[in-house]
Order: sequence, then C-alpha cells, then structure tokens
Amino acid sequence: MPTETKPDTTEAKRATRLATSEAARKNAKKLHEVVKYPHPVLATKGDPVTDFNADLEQLVEEMFDSMYAAQGIGLAAPQIGISKQITVIDVSFNENPNDKLVLINPVIVEREGSLYEEEGCLSLPDINEKVKRAARVKVRAQNAKGEFFEVEGEELLSRALQHEIDHLHGILFIDHLSRLKRDLVLRRIKKLIRNGEW
Ligand code: ZN
Repeated sequence: MPTETKPDTTEAKRATRLATSEAARKNAKKLHEVVKYPHPVLATKGDPVTDFNADLEQLVEEMFDSMYAAQGIGLAAPQIGISKQITVIDVSFNENPNDKLVLINPVIVEREGSLYEEEGCLSLPDINEKVKRAARVKVRAQNAKGEFFEVEGEELLSRALQHEIDHLHGILFIDHLSRLKRDLVLRRIKKLIRNGEW
C-alpha cells in the first residue's frame, strides 16, 4: 500500500521498494492460454493429483483468473495444457463467491434424470450443440487442500460438472454427439483451421 508519509532513510526506502514489488508480484495474474481442439492434451486422461501444496493452490487461482479472462464458467487443467485432474467452475461468473468450486480428482457418484441443452467449450470456440446430460449429479472430490467433499448440481451446474469432469478423462462435448453431427462439426473445424480462422 502506498502511503503519503515517506520515511527518509535508505533502509526504509529499500524496505518500501521491496514491499511494493512483493505486492505487485502477488497481484500479478498469470493467465494461461486455453488450448484448442485438436490439441492431444484434450484427448488425454489427466493424472490424479497426489501433492496438495502451495503450487497447487497457486495454479487453482491462475485457473480461475484464466477462466474469467476467457469468459468461461468452467475450466479444466488439460485445457491449459496441464494433464491433471483439476477443474474449476463458477456458474455465477464471479458474482457469488459461494459458487466458486475447485474440484480435484472428482468422481460422479450419483446421476439422475436427463437434460438436453446446448453446450459450448472454450477449447471449441463458437461450436454450440445440444448434448444429453444427467439432470442432477452428485460429485465427490477434493479441494485444493486435499480435503474430500461432495457437491450436488442441477441444471447448469449439473452440466458444467459433467462437462468439466469429462475433460479430465480426455472427453469433449462433441464426443457425445451422434456420429453424423460430430462429423459435421469436425468438418467445420477443419475448414476453419484451413482458413486460419481457428
Ligand atoms: Zn470444455
């Protein structure tokens, strides 16, 4: 924090300078670029997380920042090129702190009903297709400290949970489409890649 009273000793100036650079370093957001289909990391099952340390907490914060920067409500570590079972979700898009979810090594333990709604993905920009999902799921996961917890989701949260957990297993939402629809989407992407628009 800058103050208006400046102590006039070299040592104090140095201390202020160090404190300022430390604060700047802490506030600096490291944004990760989201990788796009057909990057192979998106088709790879992520490794389970076994070390719950400060680096992991840092990565989780960077994932939230990267997700918000990309206008997303969910982001999985493989989408930033890290093949690990880590995902963050915030269906309120930074409006409600209670909606911020960190899911490490998540497993769907219950699923019920069905939904058929349009989905999109940060790794497949501008591709939106209807996907069949369970209407309600219960997920067991660990938080960034390694503590186990359960979360239940309906509607949008249910879809986000299923979509993100799929990413941790190398599955994209287009993998749930019919063969015909999937082929059409892939053809469209190939064309975009050819035209340098992907
Ligand atoms: Zn996605």
